Amino acid sequence: MDPKSASNLSFILNKPHDVTYAERPVPETKDPHDVLIAINHTGICGSDVHYWEHGAIGHFVVKEPMVLGHESAGTVVSVGSAVTTLKAGDRVALEPGYPCRRCGPCLAGKYNLCPDMRFAATPPYHGTLTGFWAAPADFCYKLPDNVSTQEGAMIEPLAVAVHIARQAAISPGQSVVVMGAGPVGLLCAAVAKAFGATKVCSVDIVESKLEFAKGFASTHTYVSQRVAAEDNARNIKELIGCPGGADVVIDASGAEPSIQASLHTVRMGGTYLQGGMGKADITFPIMAMCLKEVTCKGSFRYGAGDYRLAVDLVAAGRVDVKKLISETVPFQKAEDAFKKVKEGQVIKIVIAGPNEKE
Ligand SMILES: [Zn+2]
Ligand SMILES: [Zn+2]
Repeated sequence: MDPKSASNLSFILNKPHDVTYAERPVPETKDPHDVLIAINHTGICGSDVHYWEHGAIGHFVVKEPMVLGHESAGTVVSVGSAVTTLKAGDRVALEPGYPCRRCGPCLAGKYNLCPDMRFAATPPYHGTLTGFWAAPADFCYKLPDNVSTQEGAMIEPLAVAVHIARQAAISPGQSVVVMGAGPVGLLCAAVAKAFGATKVCSVDIVESKLEFAKGFASTHTYVSQRVAAEDNARNIKELIGCPGGADVVIDASGAEPSIQASLHTVRMGGTYLQGGMGKADITFPIMAMCLKEVTCKGSFRYGAGDYRLAVDLVAAGRVDVKKLISETVPFQKAEDAFKKVKEGQVIKIVIAGPNEKE
C-alpha cells in the first residue's frame, strides 16, 4: 500500500462525547530502527471508552484533540535501514507503549514501569485508530500465517492477562479464581488454564457473562450475591471444592466488594493479584492478608516477553481470542462501536483500518 495515495483518516477525541474523523499527515519514520505500518484492525478497550466519556483517566487528562485506540494489528509498509527482523508485507501485532529504555525500571527489565513511557491514546500521545503508524521494529510482533489481524488486535488485552498470570506465578495444578468476566477477566481465565491451572472459577454479577465464560475457559462460575464478602468467599470455596481457599485469586474487576471477597477466597499463603482498576481507594481486608500471609501484587500493562507469549498462545490454539470478537465494523462506524461497548452489548468490537476493504 502506498502511504502517499492511501488514507490516514483518524478517529479523534476533541472532548468528552465529541469526536471527529480527520485526515492527518502520515507519520514519518525518523529512526533507522522504525517501521511504518498500515493499520488493519483495532479493538476497543475500556480505557478508550473511558476517555471518550470522561476525557480523563486519573491524572491523564485529554487537553488537546487525541486519536483514540491502542489495540492494533497491521501490515508493514516500509522498514528503516537498521531493521533486520521485519520486511514489507509482514503482518504484525503492535505493542502500543514505547519506554525510554534508559531509566532504572527499563534497565531492570520492567519497562512497563518506565516513568517516560509514550503510550498510544494516553495523553498527550495519539492512538492507533488511524491509517498508518510508525513504531520501533522490536515492539512489532510478526503474526504467523494462521493468526489473522483481527486476532492480532486481541494480542494487547491478552498480553495484559499474560502479565497478570506471570505476576501471580500461576503454575500447573493450581486453583485460580478470577473476579470479573469482562474481556481481561475472560482472558485471565484462559491464560490461567494455559499455564496449567486445573480449577479456574470466574466470578461476576452478570449471569450472561458467566454463561460465556463457561464456554470459553472457566471450569466453574459463580454469580456474586449481595451478601458479606466472607459469605461470597465461602460459597466460591465450596463450589470449587477448595475449603481452604484458592491458590491464586485475581481481581480483574476493580470493584470493592470483589476485592474484599478475593482476600477471603485466597488460601493460607496464597497469592492475590490486583489487575482491575476501579476506585483509587477502598476498604481493604488487611487483617485477612496479614493472618494468612497472602502475597499481594499489582499488575500494570505488560512487559518483557508478554506480547511474544500472547502471540504464541493464539498461534498454538491455546487461547481462542476469536470467540471474544462480537463484531468487526468499518472505520466510519467507530463512534457507533464506542456506543455499543459502553452499553455493554458486546464483549469486544474490532474496527477495520480506514484503508480496509470490507
Ligand atoms: Zn486495552
Ligand atoms: Zn524508562
